[in-house]
Amino acid sequence: MARDKTLWELYTDEQLQEMEQVGARYRQCLDQGKTERECVRLSVEMARAAGYRSLKECVKEGVSLKTGDKVYADYNGKCLVLYHIGQEPIENGMNILGAHIDSPRIDVKQNPLYENTGYAYLDTHYYGGIKKYQWVTIPLAIHGVVIKKDGTKVDIVIGENEDEPVFAITDLLIHLAGKQMTKTGSTVIEGEGLDLLVGSIPQKKDDDEKSDADGNADAEDKKLTDEEKKLAKTPVKANILRLLKETYDIEEEDFLSAELEIVPAGKARELGFDRSMILSYGQDDRICAFTSLMAMLDINTPKRTACCLLVDKEEVGSQGASGMQSRFFENMTAELLALMGYPSALSLRRTLQNSSMLSSDVSAGLDPMYADVFEPKNAAYLNKGVVFNKFTGARGKSGSNDANPEFMAAIRRILDENQVQFQTAELGKVDVGGGGTIAYIMANYGMEVIDCGLAVLCMHAPMEVSSKADVYEGVRAYKVFLENMTNIYGL
Ligand code: MN
Ligand code: MN
Repeated sequence: MARDKTLWELYTDEQLQEMEQVGARYRQCLDQGKTERECVRLSVEMARAAGYRSLKECVKEGVSLKTGDKVYADYNGKCLVLYHIGQEPIENGMNILGAHIDSPRIDVKQNPLYENTGYAYLDTHYYGGIKKYQWVTIPLAIHGVVIKKDGTKVDIVIGENEDEPVFAITDLLIHLAGKQMTKTGSTVIEGEGLDLLVGSIPQKKDDDEKSDADGNADAEDKKLTDEEKKLAKTPVKANILRLLKETYDIEEEDFLSAELEIVPAGKARELGFDRSMILSYGQDDRICAFTSLMAMLDINTPKRTACCLLVDKEEVGSQGASGMQSRFFENMTAELLALMGYPSALSLRRTLQNSSMLSSDVSAGLDPMYADVFEPKNAAYLNKGVVFNKFTGARGKSGSNDANPEFMAAIRRILDENQVQFQTAELGKVDVGGGGTIAYIMANYGMEVIDCGLAVLCMHAPMEVSSKADVYEGVRAYKVFLENMTNIYGL
């Protein structure tokens, strides 16, 4: 393959056309999936439209599953696994694509709402690795759920439509920032300084009295509870609570059981005079989740069983029931095997051990503005196709899944045979930094795993940059993997 060429130079007119369609769909999905819950909901819709059935329903009905069947299972709407049963015996292993659908953001605290000097704020705690100074003075939206005490779920999305308000985190004006500007990047905006500005109108005193039928304010005052008296001292907060009650039928206490995520407001956009790139929030790792899912939904009955995993919590270490460290994937695979007539624990072990996986996560594209942190021979470039990272980690590959060369050789063969462009990279120069993915967790089963994703610029920023051509090439690469990867060692 001509690895020195960009995809733009290699594609036929037909491919370029198809690429535009995939790119447009990608942008739509980015807009509709800004949280892990939204991504799962959207992915399930797309899977069902492609003929996938709920694995949990299959278990309930006790149906037997066979070659060609397609099933999915989610965990609490926050992570998802899809299986497309292949022709080979399942114990020969599966071809697995795994990506994560959580992205760096700012979360609302459990006791968030307060008033200060006439402004109402939501107190926050950021999620994942962010440069805090990047998140101030930009339009922000709130996406998430509030679960009321009776179990009712209230879905909240506010800040995305043109007629909806947005929210913001303020920054100090340059005129008075002399001292602030001498601080280091990590402290110029502090974690506790990321509170979200949500209102400034005080509740009218009249509003309180209107509820008093006889209009006797003094008598009413005496009846006020301590809580109400406290609230009267913070009228802006009181007004926000009134709006929340009117709009969502939620009380202040309901924040205790809420999962509200603050994300950049607005849509994914084409970038550049030539429209070659995409600028959007959440491309780490929805660029890999999207391309993996598109590949998964597009294949015909494969030789080996195909599997696509979209997990939560990668940005905070993959812990938690919806993260990769959870037994969810193993449990669902056991359910699948049982319905296929392989209920034994040994069958599950063999299936997992013999599987092959692409841990699909973004790579840091070489940014010429910051070229000194990259080693150009071993860096990822936009427009040059999927990126294989044999290893990740930091300081001497620490914490890395260092993939086997036998596996990489097999992958090179199938990609070259199918004219798919790829590149190899590592994350920056040695000892400059580092990072990890879900690869090492799946490798615990003894399966072959390698990191393989797409390159982005300004990873973890509110807006990340990717290449349209890479998105298209990603779908092609993942399809080739699902359709052609074999068990390279045998049982
Ligand atoms: Mn990632
Ligand atoms: Mn990340």
